[in-house]
Amino acid sequence: MSNQSTRRVNTGITAESLYLAVAMWMEMFPELTEEQFSSVENRETTADSGKMKDLYRKVGCVLVQENGRLLAVDHSRDGVHGLAGLLVKLHDRVKGCSAFLSRKPCPYCAKLLVQAGVTGVSYPPVEPEYRYTTKEDDRVRVLFDAGQITLSVYFPQVKTELLISDQELVAKGILMNEIRDSCRLVSERFWNEESLRWMTGSSLEQTYNDFQNLVKWFTQINLSLKHSKLKLSAHSEGISFPEGTTRAFDPEHNFHEEQIAKHMLGLAMMTIQRTVEPNTGVGCVIMKNNDVMAVGWNGFPSKVIEEEFHDLSDQERDKKYPFFVHAEQNALLMRNKTNVNGGIIFVTKIPCHECTPLVKVAGIETVVLATPLKSIKEIYRLNYEVFQEEVKKGTFLCYEMVTD
Ligand SMILES: [Zn+2]
Ligand SMILES: [Zn+2]
Repeated sequence: MSNQSTRRVNTGITAESLYLAVAMWMEMFPELTEEQFSSVENRETTADSGKMKDLYRKVGCVLVQENGRLLAVDHSRDGVHGLAGLLVKLHDRVKGCSAFLSRKPCPYCAKLLVQAGVTGVSYPPVEPEYRYTTKEDDRVRVLFDAGQITLSVYFPQVKTELLISDQELVAKGILMNEIRDSCRLVSERFWNEESLRWMTGSSLEQTYNDFQNLVKWFTQINLSLKHSKLKLSAHSEGISFPEGTTRAFDPEHNFHEEQIAKHMLGLAMMTIQRTVEPNTGVGCVIMKNNDVMAVGWNGFPSKVIEEEFHDLSDQERDKKYPFFVHAEQNALLMRNKTNVNGGIIFVTKIPCHECTPLVKVAGIETVVLATPLKSIKEIYRLNYEVFQEEVKKGTFLCYEMVTD
């Protein structure tokens, strides 16, 4: 997968904080049915059913390679713990990786990560993956000691410059009680005083502030997605399907697929904060059969080149654009599985003439845009008509995002 591991002074979020935030975002991945979707928080153990499942909380996870590149993201699903599933699926790639988890892992996941050669683990100070037994704490500690795992426990730090005020959200047509409800849902999921009892005074205050900023950031992304619709682009409407086949992915009509699409677009939006210019940045996610195979955002191919352009004036900006590796290019180059044939790409902007043929040749058939598919003029020698032409030809089925 992706991406830039370079550190910059003016970024709203560090790479490590972004990876941890993504792990937490993946824990909030929509459940399979509408019923499960609305009752994610209500999975207490009942006397006679689902005991194994309810012993563990859902966990979101991110694996990052030694070079700082994001390798994979996933979450607990299909009865498999998120981290355990990811380690097994990518068994030949995980040695030397760091894991960013939405919760402290259970002993089962911890033993697998030690055995797989993961070297660092980060998670926020929230309730752990396991419930009910204090012995689990000791077991995880023994495993982490044995594996010489580097541990970091913190909430992702999102700078306030990155956040917009409630007033600005209200001006966009979002209601105050929607903002409150969304913040409350994230807080109820992750804020837990018991998990913070070892903290005191200023460190507790700092933790609380970090958490509040994260909650606001998630809420802003959530609400912008909630107030938008995904619909089939007019350019795709004329495309007919062979007899007996249906659309592989239909976020316009299928509730669950709409939720997945929005969640993946939200993830793509988050990564934009790691691009050199978040205002013009692009993020994308490639998914196939519910597996995320790549997350990419645009950036320079090397730190040396990036530094050359640090002092460029606004008038000279087009000098640096030819050096950008685009989000789709990063995702396709760094993907964790070779075969993305028939896959879906979720991308925040319209693919350009450089990226369109790459997406096509990789066999990706569905493109979900976080923007309307409209004509945009050529800029910095990038042409966007090529993509529209391919959509009209039926190379891709394209869904666009429109605000309601
Ligand atoms: Zn586990
Ligand atoms: Zn491009």
